[in-house]
Amino acid sequence: MTSTPRIWHATVLTLFPEMFPGPLGVSLAGKALASGLWALEARDIRDSATDRHRSVDDSPAGGGPGMVLRADVLAAAIDAADGASERQKDRPRLLMSPRGRPLTQSRVAELAAGPGPMIVCGRFEGIDQRVIEARRLEEVSVGDYVLSGGEIAALALIDACVRLLPGVMGKLASGADESFSEGLLEYPQYTRPQEFEGQPIPEILLSGDHARVAAWRRAEAEALTRGRRPDLWANRQVQTRPVQTRPAQTRPAQTRPAQKRPKNTTDG
Ligand code: SAH
Repeated sequence: MTSTPRIWHATVLTLFPEMFPGPLGVSLAGKALASGLWALEARDIRDSATDRHRSVDDSPAGGGPGMVLRADVLAAAIDAADGASERQKDRPRLLMSPRGRPLTQSRVAELAAGPGPMIVCGRFEGIDQRVIEARRLEEVSVGDYVLSGGEIAALALIDACVRLLPGVMGKLASGADESFSEGLLEYPQYTRPQEFEGQPIPEILLSGDHARVAAWRRAEAEALTRGRRPDLWANRQVQTRPVQTRPAQTRPAQTRPAQKRPKNTTDG
């Protein structure tokens, strides 16, 4: 059996399909979209409404302000999108939601490596809980603030994925150097002019000494991360702490009471 390579394909379920591709239609993502490096399909949830008024929402059970997207209409929209692309049935089904797990670069990289997600955009007060469970939607947040709809959140998620697709940005987004690679924020960048309002470019960057430049950038990235994002820094410390497989034998005698060592520890 031959399998044709599938291009990365995002399907967005929204009440406002005219918001797509929007900003994803320009610059590198837009060029890549036009040249078929990735695909985007925006489907109108309202097309799955069944009543005369094509209604998609209703007032919240239990009372309260606003409206809630109906489970039956949304489930029908999800099923229709599933049916439209048989081969992508197993792709991630996301729901943009402030209650979701905050989006990270590593989740973005996973999504970019897959077939491309189906993304449900909420509106109003949100969507009926039952459809989240029945269609196993993964709730994804773009931050601890509330947008008026999931569309801008979906655009952000798709943009972050698309720039990682092969051929979209060339080497630019290789990920090796960027913020969050290795759990660090990126070092500061400079370009011409050599002096701006009395401020020169750090001399080391003009030295041509690649090793020193790399060391400087590394140190800057670490200092920046430690200062601005202690949460990222702490996480990284945990991940990169070397695993001690043997007790160190060259250390001077411990001044604090030694922790009890498990019995089966080998002393070399
Ligand atoms: N009443 C809801 C907010 C609804 S906002 C609550 O308090 O949780 C309307 C829609 O905007 C949501 O259904 C979701 O799809 C989208 N949205 C709002 N903020 C978001 C965020 N931080 N991340 C992702 N999607 C968000």
